[in-house]
Amino acid sequence: MSGSTVRVGLVYPELLGTYGDRGNAVVLVDRLRWRGLDAELVEVAVRTPLPEQVDMLVIGGGEDAAQLAALDELRPQVERLRHAVEREMPILAVCAGFQLLGSTISLAGRRDPVEGLGLYEGHTAPTGSRWVGEALLDVGLEGVGPVSGFENHGASTTLGPGEQPLGRIRRPAGEDRTDGVVHGSLVGTYLHGPVLARNPALADHLLARVVGELGPIDDDLAAHLHRARLDSLG
Ligand code: GLN
Repeated sequence: MSGSTVRVGLVYPELLGTYGDRGNAVVLVDRLRWRGLDAELVEVAVRTPLPEQVDMLVIGGGEDAAQLAALDELRPQVERLRHAVEREMPILAVCAGFQLLGSTISLAGRRDPVEGLGLYEGHTAPTGSRWVGEALLDVGLEGVGPVSGFENHGASTTLGPGEQPLGRIRRPAGEDRTDGVVHGSLVGTYLHGPVLARNPALADHLLARVVGELGPIDDDLAAHLHRARLDSLG
C-alpha cells in the first residue's frame, strides 16, 4: 500500500466508462471507508501516465473507437501493467477493458485484428450478433458466489488453454459459455452493473487482496440489491 491510504486508480474514465463502470472504483473506495480505512479514488486521465502509486486499477468498458484509442494510450505503458500483475496488484477490467488486456482483438466491421496488451491469453472476435442483456455467472472465487451483471458486446473472448474464466454463464439459460478471466490478480468480465455495486462479495474479494481480512460492515442495501438481481434472474 502507498502509506496507509489505499489508492484505487480509475483508468481513462472519459474513454472507458459505459454503463457507470466508474462506479466500480467508487464501490471499492467506499467499502474501505465504511470500514474506517483510508482510501482515495485516483482518476487517470487520457494522456496521463499510469501512476506508480496505486494499489488497485479499475478499467471500464467502451465503444469500439474509444476502446481502440485507449489501447493506443496504454500500449507504451504495457510494462507498467505487466509489472502490476507480477506484483499481484488487483486489476478489474470490464468489457472493452477486459478485451484490450488480452492477446488479439478483432471488432465487428474492422478488417484486421489488432494486438492487445497481452496480459492474459485471450482472442476477441465478433460474435455475429450483439450479446445484450442480464447475465448470471457461477463464479469459482472463494467466498464470491453467483455474480450478476449486464452485458452488451459485439465481440467475445476465447481464452487460451492455460487461462481460467471468471465464471460459467447460468443465465441466459441454454448458453454454454464462460465469462471473463482470472489471471493472478487480474479479473476480467463482460459484466457491467456496475458489477461491484451489484456484487459486493466480488468487491471485497479484490479489496482483501490489498488489505487482508476485512471486517464486517452494515451493507444491507448492497446485499439487498445483490439478492434482488439474482432473484430477477431466477
Ligand atoms: N466494443 C466492445 C464490443 O462491442 C466492448 C463493448 C463494451 O465495452 N460494452 O465488443
